[in-house]
Amino acid sequence: MSHVTLSQLEQQQDFVRRHIGPGQAEQAEMLATIGATSLDDLIEQTVPAAIRLPQDMNLPAGTTEAQALAELKAIAGKNKIYRSFIGMGYSDVHVPNVILRNVLENPGWYTAYTPYQPEIAQGRLQALLNFQQATLDLTGMDLASASLLDEGTAAAEAMALGKRVSKNRKANAFFVADDVHPQTYDVVRTRAEMFGFEIIVGKAEDAASHDIFGALLQYPGTTGEIRDLTDIIAAVQANKGIVAVAADIMSLVLLKSPGEMGADVVLGSAQRFGVPMGYGGPHAAFFATRDDYKRSLPGRIIGVSQDTRGRPALRMALQTREQHIRREKANSNICTAQVLLANMASFYAVYHGPKGLKTIASRIHRFADIIAAALQNAGFSLAHANYFDTITVNVGDKKDAIVSASDAAMINLRTDLDGKLGISVDETTTRADVTKLLAVFGINDVNFDALDAKVSEMPASIPAELARTSEILTHEVFNKYHSETEMLRYIKSLEDKDLALNHSMISLGSCTMKLNATAEMIPVTWPEFGSLHPFAPLSQAQGYQHMIQELADWLVEITGYDHIAMQPNSGAQGEYAGLIAIRKYHESRGEGHRNICLIPSSAHGTNPASAQMIEYKVVVVNCDKNGNVDMADLKAKAEEMADNLACIMITYPSTHGVYEETVREICDIIHANGGQVYLDGANMNAQVGLTSPGYIGADVSHLNLHKTFCIPHGGGGPGMGPIGVKKHLAPFVPNHPVVKIDGPNPENGAVSAAPWGSASILPISYMYIRMMGAAGLKKATEVAILNANYIAKKLGEHFPVLYKGRNERVAHECIIDMRPLKEASGVTEMDVAKRLNDYGFHAPTMSFPVAGTLMIEPTESEAKAELDRFIEAMISIRHEIAKVEAGEWDATNNPLHNAPHTLADICDHNWDRAYDRQLAAYPVAAVARNKFWPTVNRIDDVYGDRNLVCSCPSVESYRD
Ligand SMILES: *Cc1c(COP(=O)(O)O)cnc(C)c1O
Repeated sequence: MSHVTLSQLEQQQDFVRRHIGPGQAEQAEMLATIGATSLDDLIEQTVPAAIRLPQDMNLPAGTTEAQALAELKAIAGKNKIYRSFIGMGYSDVHVPNVILRNVLENPGWYTAYTPYQPEIAQGRLQALLNFQQATLDLTGMDLASASLLDEGTAAAEAMALGKRVSKNRKANAFFVADDVHPQTYDVVRTRAEMFGFEIIVGKAEDAASHDIFGALLQYPGTTGEIRDLTDIIAAVQANKGIVAVAADIMSLVLLKSPGEMGADVVLGSAQRFGVPMGYGGPHAAFFATRDDYKRSLPGRIIGVSQDTRGRPALRMALQTREQHIRREKANSNICTAQVLLANMASFYAVYHGPKGLKTIASRIHRFADIIAAALQNAGFSLAHANYFDTITVNVGDKKDAIVSASDAAMINLRTDLDGKLGISVDETTTRADVTKLLAVFGINDVNFDALDAKVSEMPASIPAELARTSEILTHEVFNKYHSETEMLRYIKSLEDKDLALNHSMISLGSCTMKLNATAEMIPVTWPEFGSLHPFAPLSQAQGYQHMIQELADWLVEITGYDHIAMQPNSGAQGEYAGLIAIRKYHESRGEGHRNICLIPSSAHGTNPASAQMIEYKVVVVNCDKNGNVDMADLKAKAEEMADNLACIMITYPSTHGVYEETVREICDIIHANGGQVYLDGANMNAQVGLTSPGYIGADVSHLNLHKTFCIPHGGGGPGMGPIGVKKHLAPFVPNHPVVKIDGPNPENGAVSAAPWGSASILPISYMYIRMMGAAGLKKATEVAILNANYIAKKLGEHFPVLYKGRNERVAHECIIDMRPLKEASGVTEMDVAKRLNDYGFHAPTMSFPVAGTLMIEPTESEAKAELDRFIEAMISIRHEIAKVEAGEWDATNNPLHNAPHTLADICDHNWDRAYDRQLAAYPVAAVARNKFWPTVNRIDDVYGDRNLVCSCPSVESYRD
């Protein structure tokens, strides 16, 4: 036997083998099935030669899970975790361990997708409904959404809503109070610049003296002050302005709600409800408004409807407001939001309940009072008498000395205020922390009990008129699960209702539901990454800076761009940031009049919705019958509009799942007519290592790190949408008002609240690239293409595959056309989607990009056995359709129309179906071995939108 060397043994890259589903033998079988001699042969047949990279990517070779974790641990160790009193919208938290392990670290929660198929998503829909209910109680409003990306973007959305609904139609100015957090102001300022709104900054009480369509106030103010906003709000409203209040969620537990003060919109970050700071995110923002404005609300809303048995069932409501339907007329471009983090916050409220939250908030407030008393004893004066958790201390010329003492004590204070320092208390603050903090101010021998007694004699820092009198969280769900056993089972009971990647393949086209490896997830909850405040000095964030830079360098190599900007929190936000860069570039050349954005009809809804956000005019370019951009139409429109052409937004491979041969020509035509090329990078999983947007000739792209680079979808977020740009656009990417980013123009506005977006999930993509290496990444792309072609081949014998590229190949996804079958049998793509649930599968993407179709993207991570199981299910469903077609089953009494089937159906005494129970629930043998039960029957969308309920229904409605 020949001797295998140690080096050869060491080079066995376990991780690549585990990330990629099909092994060598399976790949060979699949290649034979589709008629290719090798992976190389398949790629040559599929990807146009003109865009193939001439050489392999220059990335480090892949490594083992253990090695990559050890390397990243060392990098993480360069972060210094100081005790943060910075505040400014970010607070340290105790993530309840039962939530940490069973939600944040649990693939049952983090690998699910946005609940577009509500029958298999009732668990996270319930958690989101709880989030909405908690938002309603705390804000005092009528209607809440199920999360936005962060407080800054939520404030910008409030401005946009204000413009839509304000009756002061002529006004073009928006007022921002001077005590709004600086990063919130900056995100709003950026958005206003793009919309052409004037921003007026001033004292809140002066808001009504301006001609404005709306105003943004902060409560408590950024330096901690609380005051009654009732009169200010009423004065603005008297002039037909809309008032939005950015509020601190924990303070609302003790304070009178902005709703009770008359606010039109209340928004803020839910971070301090049990989500780590994570150097800026991800966190969920909450957003609530009046019932009158429900059709203007941005983002997803969960609503209560009923299923075919008439029982309450949850689903996403009023979707016609959203980008995937309304496109450039949508309320916002939000697609990926922050579901996982909203769920964590809602579980935090469920676990602590109203009493527990009151204790937490009161303890925070008491420590603030005690610090205030001690400082005043020592002769310091405070900027405000009324506060919740944040006090601002006048320190005058002692500032430098105190700051250097705090640095020596590993304490961070807020330092950006002239002659003042800010101190923010959070739920993790202890007596020991306060002792150390006060020592920094030269105060020693702190007697807590004496200070506590003194506080009780001082005037209340929350005056009676600002104290909350209304009840919160009275619904049973917030008053039931306070022991860990009860909580654990509640979380599990919801998890069990949902189908996630830990049950079966989720073949959602365009969404790239690939493996989210455990080794990639582990660093996310390391304290070295979790506990950093986003505005901590860079000297404390060297681990983060190292990781972010290295990841950016790798992404530069992968994309063929010159620079990566890490700030956007989703693909859609990346589109917005990229389009801003294009617009600013044109402006810098004196061509700011260019405002036409060409978008092929096949584009994702976020493309036109984002173009609208920078006031670009969308002109749709046709597609031909093969799914390609109609070149004649493109050329004609580009030339006709050359004087005003700003850009094109294309997706590659196209959303039709083909590698267009003409993509370079498209870029050339646009450039020749003065435009820029935005290449939507959502389909990067079909490019990595084979071609790249930069190589193809595009100028800017976003990457969905939550698609191609393994960040899990979290049930509908978080995500990260960094953008890659060519050199000429690099000066125009986002900067940040609090932490200056090297490179982009310093005056560039922010698009997210935090300088590097949701930094704490970047370790996932870092680990993926580090473990795969150049060769592993390229192999992943090739196998993704192989898996898609295998499915197209096998299903193509039973369903028409809508579009194919060269040599009859598809790219990394394929579309099957259900319209002819619907014509013949009446069975719809919806019936097929729901029937797949009975087979234990999530449906593919429905009716995007073409109505009446299903788009299947298997990804490289699915093994052949799983693909075969899915194919078997689809073929079995095809036979079922045939029986309807043949009249063997009638149009409604058939398993497709009645899908999905629940246990209640199967156990029903009155079984009166034309098919038996076995067929309903166990249609193929594999299902019987591992059954997933949808917990509700098909849900009535129309009923839910007509009878909109977005809060938790009474417990009674679930009985009987
Ligand atoms: C997913 C997707 C987007 C939007 O990305 P989000 O991260 O959800 O905002 C844009 N374009 C395409 C083609 C997509 O598939």
